[in-house]
Amino acid sequence: MVLAAGLLTLLLTQTPIKTEPGLATTPPKPPAITVIHAGRLFDGTGDSYRKDVLIQIEAGRIISVEPATTGRVPDGAELIDLSQFVVLPGLIDCHTHLTKRADRYDELARFKESPYRNAFNGVLNARTTLEAGFTTVRDVGSPAFLACDLRDAIDEGQLPGPRIIASGPGVSMTGGHGDLNRFAPQVRMQSFPDEADFKIADGPDEVRKRVRAQLKHGVDVIKINASGGVLSRGDAPGAPQYTVDELRAAAEEAHAAGRKLAAHAHGAQGIKNAVRAGADSIEHGSLIDDEGIELMKQHGTWLVADIYNDDYLLGKAIEFNLPQESIDKERALGQLQRDNFAKAAQAGVKIAFGTDAGVYPHGDNAKQFAYMVKYGLTPAQAIRSATSDAADLIGKAGDRGRISPGLLADLIAVAGDPLANVAALETVSVVIQGGVVVKNTVPQKNR
Ligand SMILES: [Zn+2]
Repeated sequence: MVLAAGLLTLLLTQTPIKTEPGLATTPPKPPAITVIHAGRLFDGTGDSYRKDVLIQIEAGRIISVEPATTGRVPDGAELIDLSQFVVLPGLIDCHTHLTKRADRYDELARFKESPYRNAFNGVLNARTTLEAGFTTVRDVGSPAFLACDLRDAIDEGQLPGPRIIASGPGVSMTGGHGDLNRFAPQVRMQSFPDEADFKIADGPDEVRKRVRAQLKHGVDVIKINASGGVLSRGDAPGAPQYTVDELRAAAEEAHAAGRKLAAHAHGAQGIKNAVRAGADSIEHGSLIDDEGIELMKQHGTWLVADIYNDDYLLGKAIEFNLPQESIDKERALGQLQRDNFAKAAQAGVKIAFGTDAGVYPHGDNAKQFAYMVKYGLTPAQAIRSATSDAADLIGKAGDRGRISPGLLADLIAVAGDPLANVAALETVSVVIQGGVVVKNTVPQKNR
């Protein structure tokens, strides 16, 4: 390795977030050129590490990735010594609810938190998620249009957090997974803007209108509910919601605007309806059958299966007053979902990493990796599902999900060996986003 003079002094420090009185937070600025010395690199593709690599970063992007034996560190560059670490692309979770907290499960919880409280949740959860190594999330379902505002605040540097692919509220049929069910008919959710204007829709024309209304307010992705759910009242997870025609209307409008359609579907029929209608991903996929697996392969539809959170729903969430109906549904579904995930993975369905964070605590996203490996993926496949494959699903393969010249400099480092034990990703030592060190827990003496 050819080092410019004086650069052995390491400058890796936690970048402070400066605040001036009366002004918005000043976003941290990256140094002009940063060079990362990675002991081992998993670049987001393939099945193995490259050893001893220099990654050069300029203006928030990766400029070069070279063997340390031939690469050089330019004069004035900041060198970050991660020679004792495994470096990987920043992780991507394709199914989060940043504005939701995992200790609010009683039936009346939705009447207790205002959109402002949801916003505060989002600020805290965004930071926790970023520090867990997730530099991008796709947020699929939050009050209108909180995820868009959070995305914009993070992009402007006001708040630390992952880059957000933002949806609006999940579009739902009357009485469906996204509706307010089984309260007295006099009970209405008064909100401003009126959520119903953006999510409750029946018939292809209303679905089109809701999707267009969401696009008007800047969403990056459309979420639609194609089956019942676990945490909604009075609907069966296995029951289809929406016809193929209604779902197709959503897919057409989303695709015409260059957006993806994420379809929540537990039941076998709901899954097939959504795939036939042109959904880009099936969220949950719990009761998928052989025909559904074949259809997903034919259509190239991604499976985003939240196979970790069953442990939390049937554990801590019960202490937080998870209603009996939801407990019963999760008991019926949790293990089946894991077994069906294994079948789908074995059959070659495309898998993208998504956890439903918010149903369980934000920041624990990486706990799902071990379950994905337990249920049939290799560690490399599981990691790709949260890097290059996730980037593919969200339409960002050209700028994230891999460590390659031209891409955003979103990287993490872990002390363990995730290809040997994928749970190593649960402890992330260093997080770099757009070339800025946003977390570094490496003891000073070891830097
Ligand atoms: Zn969800």
